[in-house]
Amino acid sequence: MIFDHRHYDPEHVIDAEVVVVGTGAGGAAIGAYLAEAGIDVVFVEEGGYHPTSSFNPYLAESLPRLWRDAGTTVILGKSTFLYAEGRCVGGSTVINGAMTYRAPDEVLETWVSDLGTDDLGPNAMAQWFEMAERDISAKQQLPISIGGDNRIMSLGAARAGWHHQKNDRNQDGCVGANNCILGCVTGAKQSTLVSYMPRALAAGARCLTEVRVVGLQIVDGRCTGVQGRVIDPRTRKPSQRVTVRAKAVVVACGAVQTPHLLLKHRIGRPSGQLGRNFVTHPNVKVLAVYPHDVRGWQGVSQWGQVREFHKDGIIFAENMVPSGAMAAALPAHGRAVWRKMQRYNNMVMSGILVEDTTTGVIRRGPFDMALPFYSITQADHEKFLHAVRLLGRMHFDMGAEQLLLPFANLHSVHNVDELEGVNPTNIKIRHMELFTPHLMGTARMGADARASVVDLQGEVWDLPGCYVADASIFPTAIGVNPQVTIMAMALRMGAQLAERIHHARQG
Ligand SMILES: Cc1cc2nc3c(=O)[nH]c(=O)nc-3n(C[C@H](O)[C@H](O)[C@H](O)COP(=O)(O)OP(=O)(O)OC[C@H]3O[C@@H](n4cnc5c(N)ncnc54)[C@H](O)[C@@H]3O)c2cc1C
Ligand code: SF4
Repeated sequence: MIFDHRHYDPEHVIDAEVVVVGTGAGGAAIGAYLAEAGIDVVFVEEGGYHPTSSFNPYLAESLPRLWRDAGTTVILGKSTFLYAEGRCVGGSTVINGAMTYRAPDEVLETWVSDLGTDDLGPNAMAQWFEMAERDISAKQQLPISIGGDNRIMSLGAARAGWHHQKNDRNQDGCVGANNCILGCVTGAKQSTLVSYMPRALAAGARCLTEVRVVGLQIVDGRCTGVQGRVIDPRTRKPSQRVTVRAKAVVVACGAVQTPHLLLKHRIGRPSGQLGRNFVTHPNVKVLAVYPHDVRGWQGVSQWGQVREFHKDGIIFAENMVPSGAMAAALPAHGRAVWRKMQRYNNMVMSGILVEDTTTGVIRRGPFDMALPFYSITQADHEKFLHAVRLLGRMHFDMGAEQLLLPFANLHSVHNVDELEGVNPTNIKIRHMELFTPHLMGTARMGADARASVVDLQGEVWDLPGCYVADASIFPTAIGVNPQVTIMAMALRMGAQLAERIHHARQG
């Protein structure tokens, strides 16, 4: 059953066995697992419930409904940049690109050696990856869904001799409507809105939407529930209080909001790691304009990735977005945007993702605001400059007539000579137009309370009864798109928590 702001009493109190805060990749997966194991689950979700039939390509309508703060959330640092988070039932999975990659074995092996346990190693995790991939229907695209932009990327990679890999995506019958970031209009994308959440609800879970959790209930050092405020979806004003009392609290608000909530209670003191270790896979976009029709919007975003430079921590991907989002991203105003948008049919949006070599931190700001800080390193900056040049050369080899570059002080080049002539010393970190949709690591999992925030079951070391089940628990960045790894880790935690609860019931 789903509740919204019209349904709550002035002092609403509700009891559950487990309360799960957040319905994104981590929250929905663990909540569905627990509900199907016969446990009484209540979800609390700050955003609203928006079914597939409500999705459309209109930016002004979709962003405030589905994206936190309508997509204006920023990370502060040497180059202040935007980050994206979903705020709706389904969380970021409703607005993501649907690529489904497991954390590479080398990353999991590093976790094994860093944490001193096999628990998160490739063998131990395999069954949970398989379950997540099955649950969200991870598979290759139908040929009908592949657009001209993806063909250019794959042909360009072949011509350059680069390894191009087709993505598995969590979709069932995707026709390439290219509206993924504003909600899948066909319901093909298996976000948690249409996969885990319906299963959880069918198993009896309840979902309190439009309630922002603002604090934990702690009794005698144990977490016994959460306190929230109802949020008016139109004005965003907080009103009534909602309390959920539970035997276990699972926090799955994403890697920015989770530490923000926990920091209020001065948790994570043994290690001092809460809010730290913030990793983001920063990325930039390169927009190529071709002299002929490409019609990138008639096809799926992100059919494949160029993995040639993955060992150097660099991935390229096609990244077409709906027209409203494209217009908003162009470095122009008024009529100039309209003139550029008349070439929308000719555009190929491509992205560069760089694996972090540094970390940032989340702090609590005023007015219940989370303040993320992160600055790319000089080495990452140089990687971006190198990658822009490689990708730009590929587009010119494929016949592009112009490139729009991700530099605030240099917007475009028109041929290879101009591209090669860009003096890298003129492009500083502060000029990079970065963006990130991958937020991880701020309540890291570990086997040692002095070095991590949660233990190997996801329970906060210094707050029994409180668990974290989202991207916050990654010990490090994983270098690939994170949703399947988040789900797999959440399912693993779900199995452990279900066993504990069943055991306690018998006792
Ligand atoms: C535009 C975009 C494209 C992406 N593309 C891909 C991709 O192709 N492949 C991939 O693997 N990953 C992709 N990602 C990343 C992936 O979607 C996220 O890493 C993943 O969903 C994070 O899961 P999570 O459980 O940590 O948090 P989320 O999925 O963000 O869920 C957190 C939920 O908690 C809720 N919440 C937060 N604070 C509170 C509070 N105080 N009270 C109540 N509720 C709260 C939020 O509203 C939200 O619903 C993309 C993300 C974005 C934004
Ligand atoms: S490309 Fe279209 S049909 Fe496919 S998942 Fe995205 S929005 Fe859905």
